[in-house]
Amino acid sequence: MMDIPLFQLNFDEEEINAITETIRGKWISMGPKVMELEKIMQDMLGADHAIAVSNCTDALHLACILCGFGPGDEVLVPSLTFAASANCIRYVGATPVFCDVAGLDDMTIDPKEIERKITLNTKGIVVVHIAGYPADMDAIMRIAREHDLRVIEDACHGPMSVYNGKKLGTIGDVGCFSFFSNKNISTGEGGAIVTNNAAYAERARLLRSHGMTTMSYQRASGHATKYDVVDLGYNYRMDDMRASIAVVQWGKLMKDLERRAVLRKCYVQRLSEDKRIVIPFTNRHEFSSNYIFPTVLRNSTGEKRDAIREIMAEAGIQTSVHYPAIHKFSIYEQYTAKLPVTEYVTENEITLPMYSGLTEETVQYICDKYLEAVGKTLR
Ligand SMILES: *Cc1c(COP(=O)(O)O)cnc(C)c1O
Repeated sequence: MMDIPLFQLNFDEEEINAITETIRGKWISMGPKVMELEKIMQDMLGADHAIAVSNCTDALHLACILCGFGPGDEVLVPSLTFAASANCIRYVGATPVFCDVAGLDDMTIDPKEIERKITLNTKGIVVVHIAGYPADMDAIMRIAREHDLRVIEDACHGPMSVYNGKKLGTIGDVGCFSFFSNKNISTGEGGAIVTNNAAYAERARLLRSHGMTTMSYQRASGHATKYDVVDLGYNYRMDDMRASIAVVQWGKLMKDLERRAVLRKCYVQRLSEDKRIVIPFTNRHEFSSNYIFPTVLRNSTGEKRDAIREIMAEAGIQTSVHYPAIHKFSIYEQYTAKLPVTEYVTENEITLPMYSGLTEETVQYICDKYLEAVGKTLR
């Protein structure tokens, strides 16, 4: 039987050598490798500032602080995303207000929903570029300017994805990235903030390390002897071991993404045969990270979707659901929201395997089994 995972790391000797070199160098906490990573991200994304942190959840938390969200404030966010996109709003005492997504073929926040849900208390929007495909940033930034709202881009899915010529994460006030194992850039745990706002960048650097005015690397290398604590910060630092892996990963990224684009094309070509399968974002033509390959079943139900996933699992194919809607989770029960498109997608979405190591033959096998299962189940 085939054994096809949803995702596979693209690690090789390069990552092993990089981390070995860092360990041999005997400076393993935040230091020169973190600075090298930040410089690479600034150059590749075209952002003025990049600040590496220990994961994207921390990045999102810091972003909410930088944007000044607090108790009494409402922040708009899609429900069709990972829980962290909304949790960060609550970390600072603000209230997440869930918005529906635009459609089965565009699983990003609907600007019309944003306009409907703005109140006098609305202070910002957390935008999620799902699967690496941009939300409607022109409309979102226009609304944000009109209502004086801050925009946080949760760009976890979209490193190097492009919107109107700009890299995702550099369009709003703050962009947040994740380097969790299954993301496009993998370091185990890891993340980063990017921004073109110098004051935000300076504050993010302080907050990531207890609000301290110098880093231990600067003190160890004799550039500083004292520090002050000037802000209530956290320990959200990245270490040089992970940063050395991230540096290699960013170096491999474009080649990896080009391969993903080829695989997406194979999937789209084959699955377009069956009109019961919606492939989101087929009308998009700018470069995308293709973090995942989502599909949505038309005229289906949650039970039928699960039956199809079961048939796929029996054929050795791991699938996933992006995402279980956040507003349905127990800790969000009191945040009542009616989100019909989100509720349909969450019940009828299936994510197929996507990683650069997949072969065209394997994609064909996955499509064979998927079309077969859909044929059997959705008659
Ligand atoms: C992975 C992910 C996060 C959380 O990232 P961590 O680095 O695991 O904290 C947040 N938002 C989205 C959309 C993600 O995919």
